Amino acid sequence: MTNEQKLQIAAYRKAGIGYKQIAKELDLSANSVKSYCRRNGLNNEALEQSLPESACENCGKSIEQKKGKKKKRFCSDKCRNQWWNSHLDQVKRKAVYEYICPICGKPFSVYGNAKRKYCSHVCYVRGRFGAVAKN
Ligand SMILES: [Zn+2]
Ligand SMILES: [Zn+2]
Repeated sequence: MTNEQKLQIAAYRKAGIGYKQIAKELDLSANSVKSYCRRNGLNNEALEQSLPESACENCGKSIEQKKGKKKKRFCSDKCRNQWWNSHLDQVKRKAVYEYICPICGKPFSVYGNAKRKYCSHVCYVRGRFGAVAKN
């Protein structure tokens, strides 16, 4: 095993790639990759022990992830807000829901609120109270 291969194994393992895949990539036997990892703290158990670090998606600062907690994407609320503000297009696209109104059968889309069921207030009133709303 060359130094180059050893470095690659470490890099692959930290990226979460399995022994077999690494062995295939580097043209080594899965067993030698496995035993190398075990000797050098790159086996699954050791990697799980060390807290993974990741970079804030807004400012690039490294974030210490807490074990067993949901992975944090931003170092602070400020960064989260900044990121969302500069990605409003994506946010909007994600928040559009397509529905068919159960009262009039008209398709409609809802921004942000997945709980809305009717296309309009008139249909909402008809759906809830079985009456036609008077405008
Ligand atoms: Zn940040
Ligand atoms: Zn309707």
